Amino acid sequence: MEKEEIWQSVLAQIQLITSPANFATWFQNTKISSLENGRVVISVPNSFVKEWLQQKYSKTILKILKNLVPEVKELVYEIEKSGLKVVNKRMEEISIPGQLTLQELEVDKKTNLNPKYTFSNFIVGSFNELAYAAAMAVVRNPGQVYNPFFVYGGVGLGKTHLLQAIGNEIVKNFPKKKVRYVPCEKFVSDVILAIKNHQIESLKSFYQNFDVLLVDDIQFLSGKEKTQEEFFYIFNTLYEKNKQIVISSDRPPKAIPALTERLRSRFEGGIIADISLPDFETRLVILKAKAEERGVSFSEEILNYIASNIKKNIRELEGALNILVTYQKLNKKSPDLQTAKQLLKNLISPPSKVSTVKKIIKTVADFYEISEKELLSNSRRKEYVKPRQVAMYLLREELKCSFPFIGRKFGGKDHTTALHAYNKIVNDLKKNEELVEEIKEIRERIFS
Ligand code: ADP
Ligand code: MG
Repeated sequence: MEKEEIWQSVLAQIQLITSPANFATWFQNTKISSLENGRVVISVPNSFVKEWLQQKYSKTILKILKNLVPEVKELVYEIEKSGLKVVNKRMEEISIPGQLTLQELEVDKKTNLNPKYTFSNFIVGSFNELAYAAAMAVVRNPGQVYNPFFVYGGVGLGKTHLLQAIGNEIVKNFPKKKVRYVPCEKFVSDVILAIKNHQIESLKSFYQNFDVLLVDDIQFLSGKEKTQEEFFYIFNTLYEKNKQIVISSDRPPKAIPALTERLRSRFEGGIIADISLPDFETRLVILKAKAEERGVSFSEEILNYIASNIKKNIRELEGALNILVTYQKLNKKSPDLQTAKQLLKNLISPPSKVSTVKKIIKTVADFYEISEKELLSNSRRKEYVKPRQVAMYLLREELKCSFPFIGRKFGGKDHTTALHAYNKIVNDLKKNEELVEEIKEIRERIFS
């Protein structure tokens, strides 16, 4: 078999076990560049793909390869030469924290898009793969598949990047389409101004004229009745004409307070995807990719330190990297770990106050809107049973409390009751997505 053929067949098998989005992200532009004496060299476009394949796919790839070519023993990755060009270009852009780079100022007047946000520098991992997959479907067929596309997630996790990348990609692929990006806050102030100046009709026809409308941070509509009304009107007109609408928010539609029911149901009428927190490995991949983009490298030790201490979002990871990049440019040398810790000490706060038994119990009770006494009671009422099981589960997961301890805490129950509750939630989490969301939310509250 030729190496092209072998690789095609490996890819075909991998495709069966990965999501389309992951497949596209990690296997695009890969190939076998040599296969000699049982050593296979896989060429990849950049270092983050390399890292990711090494960490997540090596075993699988090797297994598949061995089945095809039994003498294969070893797998190595190399970064394709042409990929270097991008990196070199990026090296010229040194940014100092707090100052905008030239690129950031370069917003296109017609679309309001910033060209720096693209899919080529958007990293995909399990934390955002659903949103990425939906975005891919949208850019291929704007207005035809998922309309609206509603993406939500916490700050600094890539919502704006994703919306803008969608816009930039559509502009690239469909030059005739009129695309417009608008932060919701700007939309709100435009509406207020237009009403004041009796220009609301022209504002509406301005927005109704686009083929793709990207509205960022829609939670700002909360409580703004008049603006909601105008937005509802624009939304419907665009929607009926099969124009693509993409919306971001820091929370799902049903959690946006003071939003009219009709808008909520419109937002829920297409596809909703969330972006969650990247795990440690993904944070490391992100750091490495961003460092490479900037044309710098840091020791593994330092990258590990950042990835294990900055967990909140990608913006903070970038912030940390910026500080170290600046140090490096100014001092013409990489910081050592000690220096890095010193430089980042304002960003990395001491480990957040560990959660306590009390805090977990209070948070769960508040979340389910029952009293702590009810939560801790012996009552078998349905409204108490589930919250109680959730609380027991969290005590075990977060604080590693023993089952006898948990049992005693909840009305002097036997440890088997606690164990049963824990197992019940573990099992339910596998099939009940609502519960997954609830526990995610409770966790966020516990640690906020
Ligand atoms: P949000 O709008 O959700 O608050 P942003 O889109 O502004 O977050 O992202 C914060 C920073 O992190 C931006 O500089 C963005 O480029 C970067 N970022 C976020 N997600 C990704 C990603 N998946 N890949 C690469 N960079 C990302
Ligand atoms: Mg944003």
